[in-house]
Amino acid sequence: MSDVIHLNLGFTNVYLLKSDSGYVQFDTGYKHNMKKYLKLLEKNQILPEEIKLIIINHAHFDHTGALKETKELTKAQVLVHENEKEFVAKGISAEVRPHTFLTKLLIPTMPKSWARTDPVEPDIVIIDNYSLEDFGIKAKVIHTPGHTPGTISVITEDGDAIVGCNLHGPPLRLRRGFPAIYYDEESIWKSWERIIEEGAKNIYISHGKPFKVDLMKKKLAKRKKAK
Ligand SMILES: [Zn+2]
Ligand SMILES: [Zn+2]
Repeated sequence: MSDVIHLNLGFTNVYLLKSDSGYVQFDTGYKHNMKKYLKLLEKNQILPEEIKLIIINHAHFDHTGALKETKELTKAQVLVHENEKEFVAKGISAEVRPHTFLTKLLIPTMPKSWARTDPVEPDIVIIDNYSLEDFGIKAKVIHTPGHTPGTISVITEDGDAIVGCNLHGPPLRLRRGFPAIYYDEESIWKSWERIIEEGAKNIYISHGKPFKVDLMKKKLAKRKKAK
């Protein structure tokens, strides 16, 4: 699990993959995370200008909050799914639909202004199966909807899967598992199956620690049994 560089910004995890020509970054944190982000880059001996691409898991403000600053700093290209393009370009968040006791309680109390981000025009808009070979990384970006309609995941040839909010862990829920926030349940189960089919072994999520794919396999099997 050592090829994925993990920057823990507090609530949101940012991940980086290294190639001979630079780095590919997965997500940004909140705008107020910038200082911490820069410190962690330095700690990992990464120069901002070495980051060539920023992939956005989905258009929620905890993933896109610092996108404008990060893009300006790194001059990296920004990649999003077609379904999230408008949100990122307009600086708004995709719909947030809470499904757990805690998120149902908390989210309506949050000021609407929180969901506003600085608009960023994406450079690369994808549908599915986008190869990162041009960026020197043996990995592809796949469409894994459910949390939002345009949520995407990165899966490397070695089986490292950066899946963002396809699963949630603490603090969004006590144990790692089904997202606490999503727009369509069935799509999430299908996305999990896809992630497994694509050869995922190690799962990296946006909120919570990494784990092995077995957890997803077990939960899928349990669901099939219950059906
Ligand atoms: Zn989200
Ligand atoms: Zn999130």
